[in-house]
Amino acid sequence: MTPADPDATPLPPPEPGRVEFFRHDLGEAEVAALTGVIGSLFLTTGPQVRALEAELAGYLGVAEAVGVSSCTAALHLSLAALDVGPGDEVIVPPTTFVSTANVVVYLGATPVFADVEPDTGLLDPVAVAAAITPRTRAVVPVHLYGQMADMAALADLAARHGLALVEDGAHGIEARREGLAPAHLGDTACFSFYATKTLTSGEGGLIATRDPDLAARLRRLRLHGIDRDAATRHGLAYRHWDMVELGFKANLSDLQAAILRAQVPGIEARRAARQALHERYDARLADVPGLRLPTLRPGVTSAHHLYTVRVDAARRDAILDGLQARGIGVAVNFRPVHLLTYYRERFGFASGLCPHAEALGAQTISLPLYPSLTHAQQARVVTALAEVLDRG
Ligand SMILES: *Cc1c(COP(=O)(O)O)cnc(C)c1O
Repeated sequence: MTPADPDATPLPPPEPGRVEFFRHDLGEAEVAALTGVIGSLFLTTGPQVRALEAELAGYLGVAEAVGVSSCTAALHLSLAALDVGPGDEVIVPPTTFVSTANVVVYLGATPVFADVEPDTGLLDPVAVAAAITPRTRAVVPVHLYGQMADMAALADLAARHGLALVEDGAHGIEARREGLAPAHLGDTACFSFYATKTLTSGEGGLIATRDPDLAARLRRLRLHGIDRDAATRHGLAYRHWDMVELGFKANLSDLQAAILRAQVPGIEARRAARQALHERYDARLADVPGLRLPTLRPGVTSAHHLYTVRVDAARRDAILDGLQARGIGVAVNFRPVHLLTYYRERFGFASGLCPHAEALGAQTISLPLYPSLTHAQQARVVTALAEVLDRG
């Protein structure tokens, strides 16, 4: 690539001695796809978005997919389309990115935090059952780190209590559990194409659903509540359009969809590469004292979006600093949402509400995990972590 624009920073090669937390692997195929769209009539929601929707619906084995601007928008539109509103309660896990709970607040509903399983960090169906009240309208499980939540148990609860089920699948469209994909049991499943996710166009999102009527409503809601999208409106002759409900501005563009479509053929190869790195971390870290390695349930095929270890909470932040001082990029996924300032102040949440999520949030460290991570880089991460832990 030769950026003519001095503000466009080319992707620098990996710095010797540093291991980035994340590096995307977009390249020539994505550039060619983008160039093709720029040479076409459509820049916004058009044929590329429709093709991407068909490809990803097929990959998931569901009838419908709706391209949107982010996973946040996907979650927001899903709950809106399922008529969640003021007075309703929506059960969410605290171990997630803020979006999962924020969208509930956008709609004037109340987020109710239910605790996670102590080992996997996945929303615990037993905690969900205990949190259900007559006002509960929906549950939003998160497929944390790429491992699917126990959808069979959650779908059973949802059916028995008449609740909507919206899956936060931001950690990977590749997640499978006992033959099920996201959106096989939920009303919708929501995905992110944010810069660090397993499929990316910098920003973007998708909603998958088995329900064609729900998909039609979501297509309306993503574009102001207008009855036809730009591609349908565009024809030889001008035709009047109408706005039939109050929607949002949350559509995916053809520019983004083309970048994403270039990645579709490699989805499984990149998932397998991340799985191999995950297994390598497991093997290399097994004998390092003071570490708890990630738990995967039997029957799970993880998207392997994140590799997380757990350490003594009292030492976690010093270990983060020690790794960064050695040039290792790290992150924390996630400090529990109910203890973030806004949620404490607005809803009065305090420590003790979800002890498993709170322990996980205090202990967890995410290590670099992406297909272009080399074995040498991974070895550096392992050595640095063992060294930092050993310093006491
Ligand atoms: C990244 C993420 C989101 C938000 O995705 P956007 O596309 O940035 O809106 C939501 N939930 C989880 C669990 C995430 O990791």
